Amino acid sequence: MTTPPSPSAPTPWIDVSVPVRSGMVHWPDNPPIEVVRVMDIARGDPATVTRLSLGVHTGTHVDAPVHFLADGAGVDAISFDQLLGEARVVEVTDGPSIGAAQLRPVDPRPGERLLFKTRNSARCWQTDRFLSDYVYLSTEGAALLAERRVRTVGIDYLSIAGMEEGVPTHRALLEHGICIIEGLDLSSVQPGSYELLCLPLRLAGADGAPARVLLRASSPGR
Ligand SMILES: [Zn+2]
Repeated sequence: MTTPPSPSAPTPWIDVSVPVRSGMVHWPDNPPIEVVRVMDIARGDPATVTRLSLGVHTGTHVDAPVHFLADGAGVDAISFDQLLGEARVVEVTDGPSIGAAQLRPVDPRPGERLLFKTRNSARCWQTDRFLSDYVYLSTEGAALLAERRVRTVGIDYLSIAGMEEGVPTHRALLEHGICIIEGLDLSSVQPGSYELLCLPLRLAGADGAPARVLLRASSPGR
């Protein structure tokens, strides 16, 4: 007699988005983040209501093609297929940036959603100060990912690109239809296969949008 397999506990979702709050770190020339209660039950108002003031590239967010391509699509036109589905978390521990040398052993495959975990995850979100020496994808690395026709690429700080390479790196990806997720916190995620759920706000025609991003370890065979 065989015992039926016991239903395993559901695999937990891991929240890899950073909390949005007043005074949090932001890209140097982007607007500061304000989250202010303009009505508050504690002050005698009938309800509590918060006003948000922020750039669309705040915290964990998605870049739309129009961010760097004049005729590019807005964030609301990004295909769900790029934002939802299987993803691979890859840890890169060497070098100031992710280039061909780091990507060759990763062997990026067509259609992959690749999320890069670097030392940024443990380091950069600890402070509200902008850190300019974050790990980034080099323009050479972006060209390699475009050549390999990956679907989506994610990074664990505010830009996929280095401070001096913002335009060429973003363009190398966006011109090839690669979706960019930035501002992930992958500190509690091990390298491996995951189910990705990334939902940027449906901001009409916008160049980006804050997103809630969740990962769940893929069961073998699923
Ligand atoms: Zn961005």
